[in-house]
Amino acid sequence: MSVATSQAFPPVMPTYARLDLAIERGDGVYLHGTDGRRYLDFMSGIAVTALGHSHPRLIAALVEQAQKVWHVSNIFRIPEGERLAKRLTENSFADTVFFTNSGAEAMEAGIKTVRKYHAHNGHPERYRLITFEGAFHGRTLATIAAGGQKKYIDGFGPKVEGFDQVPFGDHKALEAAIGPETAGILIEPLQGEGGIRPVPTQCLRGLRELCDRHGILLFFDEIQCGMGRTGRLFAHEWAGVTPDVMSLAKALGGGFPLGACLATAKAASGMVAGTHGSTYGGNPLAMACGNAVLDVMLEPGFLDHVQTVSSHLVQQLHGIVERHPEVFEEVRGQGLMLGLKCRLPQGDVAAALRARSLLTVNAGDNVVRLLPPLIAEASHVAEACAIIEAAAADLGAQAKAGVGKAGVGKAG
Ligand SMILES: *Cc1c(COP(=O)(O)O)cnc(C)c1O
Repeated sequence: MSVATSQAFPPVMPTYARLDLAIERGDGVYLHGTDGRRYLDFMSGIAVTALGHSHPRLIAALVEQAQKVWHVSNIFRIPEGERLAKRLTENSFADTVFFTNSGAEAMEAGIKTVRKYHAHNGHPERYRLITFEGAFHGRTLATIAAGGQKKYIDGFGPKVEGFDQVPFGDHKALEAAIGPETAGILIEPLQGEGGIRPVPTQCLRGLRELCDRHGILLFFDEIQCGMGRTGRLFAHEWAGVTPDVMSLAKALGGGFPLGACLATAKAASGMVAGTHGSTYGGNPLAMACGNAVLDVMLEPGFLDHVQTVSSHLVQQLHGIVERHPEVFEEVRGQGLMLGLKCRLPQGDVAAALRARSLLTVNAGDNVVRLLPPLIAEASHVAEACAIIEAAAADLGAQAKAGVGKAGVGKAG
């Protein structure tokens, strides 16, 4: 039995519904598949490769560090990490940074920081976090509980205690959820996986006031929307409010696994020696990549470029949506974190785009996400929009002619 099972079961645990496509190499905004085709990459490895592929600055930083030392552990001082932490704090609300290898670990560090703050201040009973429907915070046991999505929670034993979810945009429910055990409020300023759903500026300001009034902490998950994605270094800058704790990952390492939990000195007051740790977290290779990403993103004009390219893309997408109402419903998002809410099944739309060599990524709420590298130029936007227009025209015609889903799906 066990032999038969092991033969039938793939060596890579089949937890992903992968495309039958492998990538051989990347070059700027393009990916070259082992199928011999060149794809325009408007997914960036899910908002990770913000500087595109094979960026010379990132390659140089990684190679240089690889020739010195790869790993030393946090038993030693790591100067490149001290430098990256200093630069992140100088360019944000934060006073201090804990480095991790992934987004979910950055979330775990943030959740622990928020809980420890209250315990350290004599209120260990304050450990609960309020979260929002449609949120995504990662796939560890605590972060699936925080995200609250049944499909991620089911089958993995009792849900981790301490997360109270309220409907997105329901102020009454939010206020009612705050109790004597509440430690903080956790939110993505711009929901990614949930379907590119922005939180209105007044709401973010309202959350700040609510937290201040109740003596609880505000925790922003900027793992996807942070690091230049919206045209500011951090998405919350648009609202003019700052959190007490913030998680980063995805674009932070430009493709090298790297996450971070940023906090004010006050919020991190309980996080003293021995309270948290990671073997790999803040490893010299990751720190070299993080510093190289910041070198590029902090250059004058980088974020202006993101905003300029974004306005081209948004304007053209609005035109496409207007011309193809049978395919698309609306454009959502900010900067280069955009979504096309579809009327047709998102999978069919994505497959039609992929058949024309444009890569996108699906999100909840039947949204196709457009996450181009932040180095994309107006010419790439024009190329992408021509593909989206052509695909929409075909899909719209097929929908009118009553051609089924299967015919479209095969194209990809
Ligand atoms: C991707 C993501 C995470 C989880 O990051 P991992 O690196 O996959 O663990 C958490 N929160 C948000 C908003 C994300 O987009």
